[in-house]
Amino acid sequence: MSRVTPQHPAALGTRLEDALNADVWDVDDSPHIKVDAEKCAGCKTRPCITICPANTFVLLEGKVLHSYEGCLECGTCRVVCPKAAITWSYPLSGRGVQYRF
Ligand code: SF4
Repeated sequence: MSRVTPQHPAALGTRLEDALNADVWDVDDSPHIKVDAEKCAGCKTRPCITICPANTFVLLEGKVLHSYEGCLECGTCRVVCPKAAITWSYPLSGRGVQYRF
Protein backbone atom coordinates (compact mmCIF):
# COMPACT_ATOMS: atom_id res chain seq x y z
CA MET A 1 0.00 0.00 0.00
CA SER A 2 1.38 3.41 -0.91
CA ARG A 3 0.85 6.47 1.23
CA VAL A 4 0.29 10.00 -0.03
CA THR A 5 1.37 12.94 2.09
CA PRO A 6 -0.83 16.00 1.51
CA GLN A 7 1.04 19.24 0.94
CA HIS A 8 -0.12 22.82 0.91
CA PRO A 9 -0.08 24.21 -2.68
CA ALA A 10 2.25 27.04 -1.61
CA ALA A 11 4.87 24.47 -0.61
CA LEU A 12 4.81 23.26 -4.21
CA GLY A 13 5.06 26.76 -5.67
CA THR A 14 1.37 26.99 -6.60
CA ARG A 15 -0.99 29.79 -5.56
CA LEU A 16 -3.98 28.62 -3.54
CA GLU A 17 -6.36 30.33 -5.99
CA ASP A 18 -4.85 28.40 -8.90
CA ALA A 19 -5.17 25.12 -6.99
CA LEU A 20 -8.84 25.83 -6.24
CA ASN A 21 -9.50 26.80 -9.86
CA ALA A 22 -8.34 23.33 -10.90
CA ASP A 23 -11.19 21.73 -8.93
CA VAL A 24 -14.33 20.51 -10.68
CA TRP A 25 -17.86 19.96 -9.39
CA ASP A 26 -20.45 17.32 -10.13
CA VAL A 27 -23.36 19.36 -8.83
CA ASP A 28 -26.29 17.51 -7.31
CA ASP A 29 -29.76 18.77 -8.24
CA SER A 30 -30.69 18.72 -4.58
CA PRO A 31 -28.86 21.31 -2.41
CA HIS A 32 -26.69 19.76 0.31
CA ILE A 33 -26.81 23.05 2.23
CA LYS A 34 -30.07 24.62 3.26
CA VAL A 35 -30.38 27.99 4.96
CA ASP A 36 -33.37 28.78 7.16
CA ALA A 37 -34.28 32.25 5.87
CA GLU A 38 -36.22 33.22 9.00
CA LYS A 39 -33.35 32.44 11.36
CA CYS A 40 -30.87 34.00 8.94
CA ALA A 41 -32.81 37.27 8.78
CA GLY A 42 -32.29 37.79 12.51
CA CYS A 43 -28.49 37.56 12.31
CA LYS A 44 -26.45 40.74 12.69
CA THR A 45 -22.90 39.37 12.47
CA ARG A 46 -23.20 37.17 9.37
CA PRO A 47 -19.88 35.29 9.74
CA CYS A 48 -20.76 33.01 6.80
CA ILE A 49 -20.03 35.87 4.38
CA THR A 50 -16.43 36.25 5.47
CA ILE A 51 -15.60 32.70 6.56
CA CYS A 52 -16.64 30.72 3.45
CA PRO A 53 -13.49 29.99 1.40
CA ALA A 54 -15.61 29.59 -1.73
CA ASN A 55 -17.49 32.89 -1.26
CA THR A 56 -20.82 31.15 -1.64
CA PHE A 57 -22.57 33.60 0.72
CA VAL A 58 -23.17 37.16 -0.46
CA LEU A 59 -25.09 40.10 0.96
CA LEU A 60 -27.60 41.57 -1.46
CA GLU A 61 -30.01 44.31 -0.46
CA GLY A 62 -29.65 43.42 3.21
CA LYS A 63 -30.27 39.69 2.73
CA VAL A 64 -27.77 36.85 2.71
CA LEU A 65 -27.97 34.81 -0.48
CA HIS A 66 -26.34 31.41 -0.79
CA SER A 67 -25.48 29.11 -3.67
CA TYR A 68 -24.36 25.57 -2.91
CA GLU A 69 -22.86 24.77 -6.31
CA GLY A 70 -19.31 26.00 -5.62
CA CYS A 71 -19.13 24.65 -2.08
CA LEU A 72 -15.78 23.16 -1.03
CA GLU A 73 -17.48 20.99 1.63
CA CYS A 74 -15.43 22.27 4.54
CA GLY A 75 -18.49 22.55 6.81
CA THR A 76 -17.33 25.82 8.35
CA CYS A 77 -20.53 27.74 7.67
CA ARG A 78 -22.56 25.30 9.74
CA VAL A 79 -20.14 25.56 12.64
CA VAL A 80 -19.93 29.36 12.75
CA CYS A 81 -23.59 30.21 12.13
CA PRO A 82 -24.75 31.89 15.39
CA LYS A 83 -28.42 31.22 14.58
CA ALA A 84 -28.03 27.52 13.71
CA ALA A 85 -29.72 28.41 10.44
CA ILE A 86 -27.68 26.06 8.26
CA THR A 87 -28.53 22.43 7.60
CA TRP A 88 -25.55 20.72 6.04
CA SER A 89 -24.82 17.28 4.65
CA TYR A 90 -22.44 15.86 2.08
CA PRO A 91 -23.75 15.79 -1.51
CA LEU A 92 -25.35 12.51 -2.49
CA SER A 93 -23.61 9.72 -4.37
CA GLY A 94 -20.11 11.19 -4.30
CA ARG A 95 -21.20 14.35 -6.05
CA GLY A 96 -19.97 17.81 -5.20
CA VAL A 97 -16.41 19.04 -5.31
CA GLN A 98 -13.65 16.92 -6.80
CA TYR A 99 -10.26 18.20 -5.75
CA ARG A 100 -7.73 18.08 -8.56
CA PHE A 101 -4.65 19.33 -6.76
FE1 SF4 B 1 -18.49 27.64 2.12
FE2 SF4 B 1 -17.38 25.59 3.47
FE3 SF4 B 1 -19.97 26.24 3.88
FE4 SF4 B 1 -19.21 25.12 1.57
S1 SF4 B 1 -19.15 24.17 3.60
S2 SF4 B 1 -20.59 26.87 1.81
S3 SF4 B 1 -17.18 26.03 1.27
S4 SF4 B 1 -18.14 27.51 4.38
